Amino acid sequence: MTAKNEHGGPKNPFTLLAKDPASRARRGRLTLPHGIVETPAFMPVGTVGALKALTPRDARDCGAQMILANTYHLTIRPGEDLVKKLGGLHKFMGWDGPILTDSGGYQVFSLPGKEITEEGVRFRFEVSGERIVLTPEKSMEIQQALGPDVAMAFDECIPFPCEESYAAASIERTLRWAKRCLAAHTREDQHLFGIVQGGLFPKLRERCAKAISEMPFNGIAVGGVSVGEGHENLKTAVDLTERHLPADKVRYLMGVGLPQDILESVERGMDIFDCVIPTRYARGGTLFTVRGKIRIEHNNYRRDAYPIDTSCDCYACANFSRAYLRHLFLEKEFLGTILASIHNVRFYQRMMAGARAAIEAGNFTAWKTEFLTNYGFAADDDVNTREESSESAGPRAASTQHERPQDRRGGAQRPRGPSGPKGRRR
Ligand SMILES: [Zn+2]
Repeated sequence: MTAKNEHGGPKNPFTLLAKDPASRARRGRLTLPHGIVETPAFMPVGTVGALKALTPRDARDCGAQMILANTYHLTIRPGEDLVKKLGGLHKFMGWDGPILTDSGGYQVFSLPGKEITEEGVRFRFEVSGERIVLTPEKSMEIQQALGPDVAMAFDECIPFPCEESYAAASIERTLRWAKRCLAAHTREDQHLFGIVQGGLFPKLRERCAKAISEMPFNGIAVGGVSVGEGHENLKTAVDLTERHLPADKVRYLMGVGLPQDILESVERGMDIFDCVIPTRYARGGTLFTVRGKIRIEHNNYRRDAYPIDTSCDCYACANFSRAYLRHLFLEKEFLGTILASIHNVRFYQRMMAGARAAIEAGNFTAWKTEFLTNYGFAADDDVNTREESSESAGPRAASTQHERPQDRRGGAQRPRGPSGPKGRRR
C-alpha cells in the first residue's frame, strides 16, 4: 500500500455510501487488504482461529464477509511466532477474507489476580502459570505477527457497573495506551482501530470519543458494552459515544450481540459487529428464525417436516427437517451442531443484508420495526440457564468479551405450538 495515514499505516478503509434519512443508520464499505466488507456487517467469531463447527467455506457460503479472532487465545496457543512462520493467520486458518483481531486486553482484564499498572496488565498465564505483562506494545507485536486486516488498540474495558472516579482514571490511561499503540504499530498493510470507553458517563464518553477521534486510527470501536449492561443501557452507551464520532470512519460495536441489540445499534450509526451468539447458541440447540428463537430439542419438533426457518436459504434449511435436526441433537451427532451453526450464521448474515437493503431504500426504521415485531423481541429475552451451564468454566469460557454475561440473556425459547414458528409457509 502506498497511501498512508498520519501514523504511517494504510489510508482510511471506509467509504460512506448512504445514510438513512430518518435515522443515523449508515450504509458503507470497508476496503481491506483481504477484501471488501459491505456495512453494516456482522463478524462471526473464531476465537482460537476457527469458527466452531464451520469450515471457512461454510462461513463464506453463509455470506460472512469478515471474521474475528482472539489475540489472547492465539498467543497462548499456538503462539503468534508459529502463526507468522506458517504464513500468517489467513493462511494458517484457511480463510482468505478479512480478519479482525481484538487486543487481548479484555480477556486479560477478566482474569482473577490481574494487576493493572501504567505499563500494562500483569497476569498469570493460563497454561504455564508464568507471570506475564501484556502491554500496548506487546499487543501490537502479537497482532502484527498474526497479520489480520484490522488490529485493535489495547484498552481497559471498564466493568459494569463502575464508579465514575475509577472510569475517569481508566479512560485517561486508555488514551495514553492508545498513543503507545499508534507508536508501536508499524505494519503498513494492517489497519489499527481505536476504542472508546467511558461506561455510561456522558462526560467520559465524550472525552474519550473526541480524543480517540483526533488520533490517526482508521476506525473507531465502541467498547465497554456487552458487559451485562442490558439492552437499554447499551443504547445509551452507543448514543453517548456516537454523537462525538466523525462520520468518515467506520464504527465498530464490540461484542454485540443479539438481533435486537444489533439492529437498534445500526439505527444509532454503528457499522460492524461481532459476537459468539450465533455459533454458541447453535451448539446449544437454539436456532434463530424470523419468528424468534426455537429450541430444536423441544418435543414439538419431533415430527416436524418443515425446515428450521421456511424463509431461509441456507444448506441446513434447504435439505433437512426440524425433526431430523432434533434427532441429531438428541443423538449428540456432530452434524446437528454443524447444520445449526450454518443456519444461525446465515440468519445473521441475512439480517445484515436486510439492514443494508433497508438503508439503501431509505426505510431502515420501518424495516427494523417489522423485523423485530416478527421476531418477537421483548417477549423472549430471558435467561437460558441450560446453555450457560453447557459452557466450560475457567478464563477461556468466562473471560471473552464476546462471551460475556449479556450473551446469556437471550437463549431461552418459549415452546412453540406443534407447527413451530409462525413463519411463512412454502
Ligand atoms: Zn437456514
